[in-house]
Amino acid sequence: MPPILPSRHQPQLPLDRLILAESPGAEALEMDVLFVGAGPAGLAGAIELSRLVKRSQEQGSGMPELNIGVLEKAGSLGEHNLSGAVINPRAMRELFPDLKDGDFPFRQPVAGEAVYVLSSGGSRRLPTPPTMHNEGFYTASICEVVRWLAEQAESLGVNIFPGFPADALLVADRAVRGVRTTPGGLDREGQPTGNYAEPTDITARVTVLTEGTRGTLGQAYREWQGIRSPNPQIFALGVKEVWRVKQPLDRVIHTLGWPLPSDAFGGSWIYPLGPEMISLGLVVGLDYRQAGLDVHLLLQRLKQHPLVRPLLEGGELLEWGAKTIPEGGYYALPERRSGHGILMAGDVVGFVDVPSLKGVHYAMQTGMYAARAVFDALRADDTSAASLAAYDRMVNDSYVVRDLYQTRNMRLAFKDGLALGAVKAGLMALTGGRFPGGQIVMHADAERLRDPSGPDPFVPDGVLTFSKVDAVFKSGNATRDSIPQHLMVGEDITGEVADFYTSLCPAGVYERIGEELRVNAPNCVDCKATDILGPRWTPREGGSGPKYRLM
Ligand SMILES: Cc1cc2nc3c(=O)[nH]c(=O)nc-3n(C[C@H](O)[C@H](O)[C@H](O)COP(=O)(O)OP(=O)(O)OC[C@H]3O[C@@H](n4cnc5c(N)ncnc54)[C@H](O)[C@@H]3O)c2cc1C
Ligand code: SF4
Repeated sequence: MPPILPSRHQPQLPLDRLILAESPGAEALEMDVLFVGAGPAGLAGAIELSRLVKRSQEQGSGMPELNIGVLEKAGSLGEHNLSGAVINPRAMRELFPDLKDGDFPFRQPVAGEAVYVLSSGGSRRLPTPPTMHNEGFYTASICEVVRWLAEQAESLGVNIFPGFPADALLVADRAVRGVRTTPGGLDREGQPTGNYAEPTDITARVTVLTEGTRGTLGQAYREWQGIRSPNPQIFALGVKEVWRVKQPLDRVIHTLGWPLPSDAFGGSWIYPLGPEMISLGLVVGLDYRQAGLDVHLLLQRLKQHPLVRPLLEGGELLEWGAKTIPEGGYYALPERRSGHGILMAGDVVGFVDVPSLKGVHYAMQTGMYAARAVFDALRADDTSAASLAAYDRMVNDSYVVRDLYQTRNMRLAFKDGLALGAVKAGLMALTGGRFPGGQIVMHADAERLRDPSGPDPFVPDGVLTFSKVDAVFKSGNATRDSIPQHLMVGEDITGEVADFYTSLCPAGVYERIGEELRVNAPNCVDCKATDILGPRWTPREGGSGPKYRLM
């Protein structure tokens, strides 16, 4: 069977739908600044901006109140956020200088750490690589962090709109003027039902895209404006579970090796979330070679390993979820993240350091830099591209880009396999990123060939290991069955391609029926993996998708 080239079956990004050169409707809601996405980046940005305005007013600047809005597609705040997470508190401390670490919504300090390389039946402890030291950091549930940040933002007067996905950017010439939200209450054929809710236009002097990983509007803006990066962005898929456990875990654990095949990049984490809970998950780079690789099922296998099983035995799966991570690092950063009336911060840009698996503090920090640039631009009454470019300079001169530069080739070194990658990455760590010099050139994940292979035959037991159907139930997903299809499937979907999508999607959205592809779109948990390798994800009715509480 010939290999599969994912990009051959993937539709183009629907730019004509995502970039609308239309005047806002007469009923448009007017904001001064609009953050699209209530994750750490958007909320930290909104908090910083409202503080800057208040401080300037207290100093007698005469600055008027600003209408600051945050749009969120999840029905309630935090429901679409997922992370490991061990958090570096640096950005939290900068955003809340009057609070102590103990006031933040973290679960516990990291008390110890261990890294193992696994074989199918055994494990060997490795010295912790320098990039994976987590001393001084905290474990947390990002859902809890987001809910707490949202409370802080609301107490400062920020308007947060959960259940309102942004569907398109409203533009005039090259300037961004705001967004249009998705309609609600359409039936499967796209016809209004009795619960129909019209799209809302929201205008803003500056729109800050903080949509997170593989943000649709961010992709559209970059493509529309022809913004390039030295390498294309690449991604990993993370599948996560939260367990109630009998025994407290006393350290954070990372593993490499089994159950991943040797030509795939990734690893697992196991973090304590207080004495009774554990967060565990598996992350796998989406440039893997075997089309039948299934991250959800690999995580189920991992739980059976003698190192992991005893940690969970007698416990209970509380929640399940999945999300992608931008992994391209420094060389995948877009050459600009600003334009006329627009900025981009957090994962939508790719501010993630993969060797340390950290993105939360970079998202918050870049959200705060965006707020500072917006504040200066509004004070000068100049939201042109030239004025907002101050944000790019701020980010480029910051520890965020410095950190990503240090580890610039580490993830990329693994493109030709684990063994060679590990040696190269070790040398990079020793030389502070100077070895081997230059840029390792990458291709987009969808441009990597896949060897057709049948689905993983793993059979879950329903106690320790779970099927995708059970997993989606544990994500809290209660999407209306009759909403229109939000996944755009491409051409020439053969039986082998259908198998590939079936293995890829952790939520069981795709099924091969004979030589055809069946799409169970309501199962989708918005992880965005198929937007990277297959059918395009587009924003759908507000409140659809998972309802995470503990992720
Ligand atoms: C499996 C996994 C493990 C990780 N582990 C760690 C870790 O241990 N430590 C760490 O520091 N980082 C970790 N990260 C990375 C970290 O979680 C991210 O870098 C961080 O959450 C990014 O924040 P953000 O605000 O940019 O995006 P997000 O947290 O993704 O927030 C974006 C928000 O925008 C909303 N949104 C998206 N599109 C729209 C739209 N069209 N309209 C309205 N709203 C929209 C989303 O629903 C979401 O709420 C991990 C990530 C993953 C996936
Ligand atoms: S269909 Fe939804 S859940 Fe499945 S891979 Fe795509 S975005 Fe993720």
